[in-house]
Amino acid sequence: MTILPPSRRDVLGVAAFLGTAGLRSARADAPRLRLRLLATSDLHMALTDWDYYRARPDPTTGLSRVAALIAAARREQANTLLFDDGDLLQGNPLGDHLARSGEAPEGGIHPAYRVMNALGYDAATIGNHEFNFGLDFLERALKGSAFPQVSANIRRADGSPFLPPTAVLRRRFADEGGGLRDVAIGVIGFAPPQIMTWDKSNLEGRLVADDVVAAAERHLPALRESCDVVVALCHGGLGGGPYRPGEENAGLHLARLAGIDVVITGHSHRVLPGPDFAGRPDVDATRGALAGKPAVMPGFWGSHLGVVDLTLAQEGDRWHPVDFACEARPIARRDHGKVVALVEPDTKVEQLIRAEHDATRAWVEQPIGRFAQPVDSFFVWTGRDPVTSLVNRAQIDYARRLLAGSEHAGLPLLSAMAPFRAGYTPDAWIDVPAGPVALRQVADLYAYANTLVVVKVTGALLREWLEHAARIFARIVPGGAEIQSLLEPRLPSFDFDVVSGLTWTIDPTRPPRTDAQGRIVTPEGGRISDLRHEGRPVEETAEFLVVTNNYRADGGGSFPGMGGDRVVLRAPDGNRDVVLKWVAEQTEVTVPDERPWRFAPIGRRTTVAFDGAPAARDRLGLVPGLREVPAVRDGWARYAFDLD
Ligand code: MN
Ligand code: MG
Repeated sequence: MTILPPSRRDVLGVAAFLGTAGLRSARADAPRLRLRLLATSDLHMALTDWDYYRARPDPTTGLSRVAALIAAARREQANTLLFDDGDLLQGNPLGDHLARSGEAPEGGIHPAYRVMNALGYDAATIGNHEFNFGLDFLERALKGSAFPQVSANIRRADGSPFLPPTAVLRRRFADEGGGLRDVAIGVIGFAPPQIMTWDKSNLEGRLVADDVVAAAERHLPALRESCDVVVALCHGGLGGGPYRPGEENAGLHLARLAGIDVVITGHSHRVLPGPDFAGRPDVDATRGALAGKPAVMPGFWGSHLGVVDLTLAQEGDRWHPVDFACEARPIARRDHGKVVALVEPDTKVEQLIRAEHDATRAWVEQPIGRFAQPVDSFFVWTGRDPVTSLVNRAQIDYARRLLAGSEHAGLPLLSAMAPFRAGYTPDAWIDVPAGPVALRQVADLYAYANTLVVVKVTGALLREWLEHAARIFARIVPGGAEIQSLLEPRLPSFDFDVVSGLTWTIDPTRPPRTDAQGRIVTPEGGRISDLRHEGRPVEETAEFLVVTNNYRADGGGSFPGMGGDRVVLRAPDGNRDVVLKWVAEQTEVTVPDERPWRFAPIGRRTTVAFDGAPAARDRLGLVPGLREVPAVRDGWARYAFDLD
């Protein structure tokens, strides 16, 4: 007997037979108990809805708004647990200011934990970005957490745990008949092992990151033994395909383990249940299930609250899930491009961090320089990108001074930067007017807490670097009658490196030369041609220095040749600080319209389009031939131009 509908039962029966077990069934008269799990992930210090870069509230973000959803979810169901899935402490000027001053974590409780303690979080895990400010800062901050923090795959270099790998939450809940029952909920946490690459300078020699599934298999038997329900807090995406050791996104692989009942996922900043994951094998994107197990991914910056409703049935003295329903509840929606808030912010949350909020606002409002012209990122996909040019100028200026007199000083010095704010959401673009600029406006030009690194590469490797970056463009069919989407939908703009000091063309009608892992899959060619340095073709064996960041140099984005020993300089400064300092030193910043890359002639007129900012409508004149076409996604404008 089962409460699941027959079709579902059949599916799960087959899955169980194949070893990818979903839920068990229970006798019809077995006692039942409802348990609701709530989850946030990738808050990135969006504790309130304040956008520190634009100095205005943003009702699509903020834990203060999620708090209203948490309260509502608890009113509906008293048996509730609340989790966070990591990437909490870094991501906006509030996080930066705290890390820079060090005051709050030293002197008291980090505001993130102050808020989460007040909201009654039950357990959490740490994400990759928790390590961005160094281990000492993280350890001080974690002391403020009044609830258990777990991480099963991160250890100290001596083998001892960095955090407890698991926690057991013992709770007394009312069952369906109103009787009080003791239920033990096991929690196990995971972060991407790639932290050892992404934060190498902070972690090398201090931590070890294990394979996620191997760590799960090591710790699950004991946890399973002592718990009724086991929840995996996976700071990773869903993944898929055959298992690869060291998997960054292990959600699906964890769901297939018999010891895990529920998977909370994150890291890829998407939403489950929902259309983001439709059509993936072994994923039920409508119901919110991975391999038949309940799963959620609650967006990012507080965009959603994940809700997992479990029905537990008792068998002997143990409880186990027999049914579930999952939701990702949004704090706002978009209605024909307009943001409609669905909840109001919790003013108690705002009060809790008032002092740090005000200090951060004062810090970011400092005037630091002047722009002679407006600087925006609206049309980077046409090749017009003043932000990248500006950052590259600052990085080259900084590195030239540091390298002066070194053995490398004679080599050509180039700089790589990608458009970080180029449409992550319909509002996430750079748009700084000419005139005096505040720190917040310049900080926005470099969104990540990276540190500056210089690598030495050959001309051949430079070409592979640009080839890997050019994967961002979809494969365009020359002369196609329809308007074609210019971009590959799932590739991040932060991996489209533009190298100042070179010029090249990109032919998007040709297949990409590399795959996501940086392996050459089209050996006979690629998309880059006419690669030149100061007007002369780049020799394969010529040597260059390239200023970049620790993420790229240590292997982030799997660029060919990176992650090895090509580093010639690890600077003590963050890239963002380099940009801030450079802007402050200039009387007035003028950015040349350098356009280092162009699309190659393809022989037949072909119209391509990208989703852009509605706010960019009145700037189309900046790019000849650019025009608006009907939008295909709500909240976005769509801009088209022709390749010839
Ligand atoms: Mn994140
Ligand atoms: Mg992450």
